[in-house]
This record gives sequence, C-alpha cells and structure tokens, in this order.
Amino acid sequence: MTEPNVNLMYSGTTDHSLEPRDWEEFRRLGHQIIDDLVDDWRTIRERPVWQRVPDEVKTRLREPLPLEGQGAKAAYADFLRDVSPYPRGNCHPRFWGWVSGSGLPIGVLADLLASGMNSSVGAFESTVAMVEEQVLDWLKLALGLPNESSAVLTSGCSMSNLIGLAVARHAKMWIDVKNEGMFGPHSRPTLYISCEGHSSVQKAVELLGFGNVSLRRVPVDDQFRIDPVSLLQMIRADSEAGHTPVCVIGNVGTVGTGSVDPLDTLADICASEGLWLHVDGAFGALGWLDEKTRPLLSGMQRADSLAFDLHKWMYLPFDIGCVIIRDRLTHKAALATTGPYWTHVPGSGSYPVDLPNLGIELTRRFRALKIWLAIKAHGLNGFSRGISMNVDQAFRMRKYFSEMPDFETMPGSINVVCFRFCPPDTAEINQLNQELLRQLQTGGKSFVSHTWLNGRFMIRLAITNHRTTQDDIDAFCEEVVALAQALPRRSLKRAAHGDQ
Ligand SMILES: *Cc1c(COP(=O)(O)O)cnc(C)c1O
Repeated sequence: MTEPNVNLMYSGTTDHSLEPRDWEEFRRLGHQIIDDLVDDWRTIRERPVWQRVPDEVKTRLREPLPLEGQGAKAAYADFLRDVSPYPRGNCHPRFWGWVSGSGLPIGVLADLLASGMNSSVGAFESTVAMVEEQVLDWLKLALGLPNESSAVLTSGCSMSNLIGLAVARHAKMWIDVKNEGMFGPHSRPTLYISCEGHSSVQKAVELLGFGNVSLRRVPVDDQFRIDPVSLLQMIRADSEAGHTPVCVIGNVGTVGTGSVDPLDTLADICASEGLWLHVDGAFGALGWLDEKTRPLLSGMQRADSLAFDLHKWMYLPFDIGCVIIRDRLTHKAALATTGPYWTHVPGSGSYPVDLPNLGIELTRRFRALKIWLAIKAHGLNGFSRGISMNVDQAFRMRKYFSEMPDFETMPGSINVVCFRFCPPDTAEINQLNQELLRQLQTGGKSFVSHTWLNGRFMIRLAITNHRTTQDDIDAFCEEVVALAQALPRRSLKRAAHGDQ
C-alpha cells in the first residue's frame, strides 16, 4: 500500500506545553479557584442579581485570537476581571427569571470531577455508564415510572423533546419515516455522503424526516475518499428519476481511516448543481491548524456548513462541539422559534445574539468557558503544536507498521492509523487480529479500537491526545509486535467464537 500523505514528513515536533509544567503551581491554582468559588457563593447576596456588562469589558471580550499563551494563572485573572463578575444571575437567591437552575455547589464539584475523568459514556465497559444506568433507575423510581422503561440523559430538554418526538413518529406514523422519509419513494430530497461517512449523519437525516434511504452512499477510491465521478452520476440519475438532490456531505477525517474527501471538487459540484455543501470535520477539521495537513483540507472554507468537535482534537473535556454556517440569516431562519416570554424589550437586559435560536437546546451549559480559558492560557499555537505533534506520531506509527514484516497498513490519513497482523501462513487473519485487539485492550498498557475496511478487521487508532509522547508511540509499536508474535494461533477458533 502506498503511503497517502507523503507530504506529511515526520518533523520531530515534541511540544507538550498543553500539560501543566509545574503540577504544584497547578494545584495551587485549583485550590485558589475552589476558594474563589466558595467565597463567591457565600457573598452572593451582597452583589446585584444582574448588571450590565461595562463597555471596557465588552471591548476586552472582543480581543484578538491569542496565538501565544499567557499561562493558566493569567488567563484565570482575566476570567476574574472580565467574566465572572457579570453572570446571567441565576445563581443569585433572588433570580426568578425564565426557568433556570441555581447551580448546586456539589454539582459544580461533580462537573469538575466528571471533566477530570473525561470519560465518554458510550458502549464500552466503564463505571460511567453504570452510574448513568443507576441514576436513570433512580429517576424512574422517584417519578413513579416503570423500571422497565427506557431512558437516557441528554444535554437538556430540547434534546429530550427531539428524542421523544422522534420515537413518537417512529411508533405512530403509517410510513417508516426513519428509513423512507416523509416523502414517499417517488419524489424525495436526496443527500450524498461517501460510504465511509459517520453514523451521526445518518441519524440526523433520519431525525429530520429525509429518511435513511434518501442518504445515498457514494463509493470511495482506494484511499477511502469519495469518488466525485460516481457522485455526479448519482446526482444526475436522481434528478432524472424525479428526485431533488439537496446536499453533499464531505468528510474531513473519516472515522475509519481519517480520509479527507476532495473538498474543492465537492464545492465545484455543489456550486454547479445548486447543492448545499456540509462538511463533517469532527476531528479532521482541526488538522487545519497543522501546516503539513492544511493543504489536504483545501476547499474546507467553501463549505456552506462545517461541523466539528472541540472535545476530540482540541483535547477539551466532554462535551463541546461546534457548527459554523456560512449564511447567518439562513442559519437563524432555519431554527428560530419564539414565545411571549422571550420577546425583546428594548432597554432591558435582553441580548440580541440569540444563541438558543441557532441550535436545538434552549437551556445551555456555559461550554464556551473551557475553550476561552484554554485558548487564552495556551494560545492557538499551543494547540497547533499539539495537533502537529499527533500528526507526526501517526505518521511515524504508520511507517513503522508498513515496514514491519508480517504487518499491513491500510491508507490512513492525518492522525488515524490502521494496521493488522497478517503472517503469511495463517488463514484466519480477522480472528487473529481480534485476539490481538482483546489482548491489547485487556493488557492495560495501551488502548486502541478497530474497524472493518474492505472486509478486513483492522486495529485502528486516532491520536487526539496532547499527552502522547514519542516514547509512548514506540512502546506501543513494540508491544504490538511482541503480542502478535506470541498469539496462540491454534486456539484461535475458540477465542473468536461469537465475535463475527
Ligand atoms: C465523533 C464524530 C462525530 C460525532 O461527534 P460527537 O461529538 O461524537 O457527537 C461525527 N463525525 C465524525 C467523523 C466523528 O468522528
């Protein structure tokens, strides 16, 4: 296999300044923050419930993007000066506006601990899922709902309403809207994504009533990038069949291999066919900050909408993501709703930038603070260096396994590496690598996951970690080779039972 990103030469970047350099100093800052919070709560009655933001603070909150960091302590001093004195007011004992919670102190500590654990509550064994299940059982009991009922925590009731109505629609509609969409088989709006696209796009398509079958899966080339010729043929064929093509979804960093679709070509196709270009750049969009990767992402800035995460390659604790829409008026028109309790009263405190009307959730956690503090403390360049370092690490690992006898790499891009052990004398390569994965995951020395590419079970990893060092990469490579060579090949069939 050819190495796809020959331009991504290993440059030896090793900058770990995103981790505290002096843990004792960091501890003192942490203690100070807790002390300040407690003082704040204890004296809250002495302050106004709400007050206008002074002009000089407004000006400072428009400061240019900090490229170099000023350190955590100085960033925190800015927070104390410019942010914390002018809250929305709902922690105050005399705040009764709209419907807001008051911020239970123990919950604040819990949020700190949860951010510290920074575990994504997914389908993998860890106590965080067990805690959520237990809490859900308690809530059902507390509210007198049957224990057999199904439940999930969300980012707020807007998400909960969306989910509830999606289930209602699925249960009660006379057509299978999730799959078929609202439009019936003969004339439907159609969307296009490569067959390497992410499941969250399918979920969005289903929830919006387009229907899963309206999402056309376009074939990919040998590097798992969308094939623009097939794309154009599919768009034209749908139009001729009476459907209405509306949107192309480009991938910047597919979840399987980190592949980047040819975005300039997609943008050209969308312009000539009159389609919306949405880019799913969950982690890959941040590759823009690495100079070696940026040329690969050319065309990203032509997207009508760009979705990306900050809890992946900006290293921030869950959960925080972002969407950027080129046209502000269209964005708001698509999502805005209003109510008599929301109308703007000139001269009151209402703020013209209406963030809930640009998204789905109404009550929204102050997610922005973690990125604000992080960028001020480390500067954008701190993140560029971390991202660049991860790209180099992935390059080095890919090179290692592509040169190692009895190993095979698949095209992987940016920060994703896919490899497998494939000794020539073994037939059951997939089972062999599943056993290798089990040993790696349960061995406790490193953790990677897997994917299937062209029917092949691949060990897969995405390096979005500001703490990884070159030594970590080297130790992992050695561990893999040692484990692979010791794999008990005769007991393979039993070990892999039930897995495929
Ligand atoms: C993670 C991911 C998503 C979904 O983002 P979440 O933050 O998990 O909701 C979408 N697309 C890709 C390619 C992803 O990697």
